[in-house]
Amino acid sequence: MQTPSLPLPDKIDPWRLAAESGRLEGVLTLAVLPRLAAVLDHPDGEVSVSLAAGVDPHGIRSITGSLRTEIELVCQRCLEPLRWPLNITVSLGLAHNEAAADRLPDEYEPLLVPDGFIRVADLVEDELLLALPQIPRHVNAQECKTNAYRAPSSEPAPHTESVQPFATLASLLSAKRSH
Ligand SMILES: [Zn+2]
Repeated sequence: MQTPSLPLPDKIDPWRLAAESGRLEGVLTLAVLPRLAAVLDHPDGEVSVSLAAGVDPHGIRSITGSLRTEIELVCQRCLEPLRWPLNITVSLGLAHNEAAADRLPDEYEPLLVPDGFIRVADLVEDELLLALPQIPRHVNAQECKTNAYRAPSSEPAPHTESVQPFATLASLLSAKRSH
């Protein structure tokens, strides 16, 4: 059954939410995420939040689920707008302090929360910021306005544009051997 989108709470106590196996389901507008909005071409759009808190079989308090959105970045190759879908898998382990964070299994990204409340928008925004590409650019060369782009030598060329003379040589050699 599709739940109608309830308003997300402004703040949560993650420890209590985990103890109660609570869920966070809803939508946030990107405009309420100022750190993210600062790097977007247009901060319009929404992020769908679908998270569940709980206690795993090892007693670890966690918040897991997914965040989905589509943001508009600027392609660093052609400087044109670039639609960028984000489908983020969230796997956070709650920790009261750094020492507890270090003990979390690898599958959890630590979420440091001393007792108290955290803002849902902050949690979502942190996850989105971590998932942003470092150098956003059109993946498909046809969509990119700068087809004549050449990667600076300091940066590895995207593999779609790289020439592999040895691969050609290797295929010639193997063709020769098969005769
Ligand atoms: Zn581009």
